[in-house]
Amino acid sequence: MKKILLVEDETSVAAFIKKGLSEEGYEVSIALDGTTGLEMAMSNSFDLIILDIMLPGLNGIELCRAIRKQNKSVAILFLTALGTSENIVVGLGAEADDYLIKPFKFIELLARVKSLLRRSEKTASSQNSGSEEQFQLGDLLVNNYTKTVRRGERVISLTSTEYRLLLLFIKNQKKVLSRLEILEEVWGINFDMGTNVVDVYVNYLRKKLEANGATRLLHTVIGMGYVLKESDEDTN
Ligand code: CA
Repeated sequence: MKKILLVEDETSVAAFIKKGLSEEGYEVSIALDGTTGLEMAMSNSFDLIILDIMLPGLNGIELCRAIRKQNKSVAILFLTALGTSENIVVGLGAEADDYLIKPFKFIELLARVKSLLRRSEKTASSQNSGSEEQFQLGDLLVNNYTKTVRRGERVISLTSTEYRLLLLFIKNQKKVLSRLEILEEVWGINFDMGTNVVDVYVNYLRKKLEANGATRLLHTVIGMGYVLKESDEDTN
């Protein structure tokens, strides 16, 4: 049974989520504040951690950072009532894998939970298979065996979601990928959720790829999506 930790201080919301996820066959533990959440996350093994952002004790973002110091691989989903892009960006910068804005329908939460758990299973099995895969575009090198990314000599540190996104692009280099295709491949969601999560992550990835003035590889194709390729005059 998949184990989920839910850190949420609103008891009614926590109870609602726990009831729904338990009915779907998940084992859900609840922490009502950030400090307890951290203790539970450190002393148990969870497949997924769902974090509210506004919490007493440690807030969700601080909690996410603290968990990530110990555990790079556990899937983390933020719940936030703070629907501004600024807060979302801050939250994802703390290395969560996805976010959901309150209020949400339970079915939306369930879709995210299933997709995050499927992704972490996939990552685990591909790590076990040990097949060596290397991809290159210009000075960009992705080693899918060691999960390392470099541009020339510079090592680029990516979160797991950024890495999956880059892997999709480099496996499909020069091909224009639509937001929906990206959402389906990277987030495992095959319908338009009306969020800008793809754009947010493309921007994160782009910033890291272009650090120190490196040339643009990840291009916007207006009205179509994104493409990874070496620069030419047709794109910006
Ligand atoms: Ca709260």
